[in-house]
Amino acid sequence: MGQHGSVTASLAAGQNGHCRGWLLGKDPLKNEGKGEGMTQMFQMMNMARMQTGHMSLSCIVNAFANARDNAKERIQGRLMTNPKAGRVAIINHENTKRTLMMGKAHIEAIRAMMYRVYLAFDQRHRDPEPAVRKAANDLIEITTPLCKAYPSDEGWWLIGEAIQSYGGYGYCSEYPCAQIATDMKIYSIWEGTNFIQSMDLVGRKMNMKGGSIFSDWVQEMVDFYEANKDHEALSKEFANLGKALAAYKNMLKALAGYSKTNVSMIPLYSHRVLTATSQLFCGRQILDQAVLAEKRAKEVGPDHFDYTFYTGKVATARYYVRNVVPNVWAVAEIVIDGDTSAIDVEIDVFED
Ligand SMILES: Cc1cc2nc3c(=O)[nH]c(=O)nc-3n(C[C@H](O)[C@H](O)[C@H](O)COP(=O)(O)OP(=O)(O)OC[C@H]3O[C@@H](n4cnc5c(N)ncnc54)[C@H](O)[C@@H]3O)c2cc1C
Repeated sequence: MGQHGSVTASLAAGQNGHCRGWLLGKDPLKNEGKGEGMTQMFQMMNMARMQTGHMSLSCIVNAFANARDNAKERIQGRLMTNPKAGRVAIINHENTKRTLMMGKAHIEAIRAMMYRVYLAFDQRHRDPEPAVRKAANDLIEITTPLCKAYPSDEGWWLIGEAIQSYGGYGYCSEYPCAQIATDMKIYSIWEGTNFIQSMDLVGRKMNMKGGSIFSDWVQEMVDFYEANKDHEALSKEFANLGKALAAYKNMLKALAGYSKTNVSMIPLYSHRVLTATSQLFCGRQILDQAVLAEKRAKEVGPDHFDYTFYTGKVATARYYVRNVVPNVWAVAEIVIDGDTSAIDVEIDVFED
């Protein structure tokens, strides 16, 4: 497909012989090659995973902004609510607004997740309190596969939606969304495919220190829900977060059971579990922003130039938590149900 917006090269080392490599880590030569090369390589990999998620987010934002601008200009069709009036820009149609809101909600939810994790990078590096540095490190460990995989998975279909909102122009390579799609697809593949990320989540991250680090992470979301569940303006949204958390905890119990009774269930469901985990965390983070934005909107009032920004933040969080987060309890139900038809069948079944 090709990354046309990127300076990517293929390097072939050693084709003419005389190729030299260096063992990395603490005195690997004195230590029969047993340094800390792998650990150091993973530091680099983990940062590259964050950057991959970040680049995916940038692609989604770019496609969204182009689709929005096109929707403001493209005149097509009349309003269902006022068919006798003239044709309007497509941004006024319900389905185009839905498409744009889906893009905006994902962008803001993914940003909320990634900015929280980037804050943890600063805390890990700079905070004077060892407990804060440790908590930041735990958060980074758990969320690195989410930050890599969730934006790069969702980006593919979100850019598809941006293409769709253009109509025929969207499909043509002269237009930006088609170009962004080809640049985008690699992000779910490199730096460890998203399946590999999902196995890192369910295999390693969920079980660090006997599972206690992951339990604390889930508990923090429960505490956030408990502290806000009576919020007047966002009661339905917090009810959704509470429902998603309860379902998610039941799903974790089912996964723990499968790891003892039928280990194939873990890779069978891990990718869906990663998506649901990301949606839960994104829902928690975007609601945090919504609480603040709702308060600020009331404080500044409708005449203030920031009023639309704050009310837009609340509406976007509402959309994400009411239209995306319900997937968490759908996935939980699917995992608990534990259908095995995909792995039970003979491979020949996949023939036509
Ligand atoms: C444009 C581009 C640039 C790249 N740049 C670099 C680079 O700079 N440096 C570098 O080192 N690499 C680079 N790569 C390689 C990239 O990291 C790999 O393509 C990627 O890790 C996937 O490995 P693979 O292609 O061997 O796929 P495979 O490992 O063959 O995987 C194929 C499919 O099988 C799945 N799969 C694999 N193993 C399992 C398993 N055990 N269980 C279930 N499913 C499994 C995978 O998830 C995937 O969907 C680049 C690739 C591309 C396309």
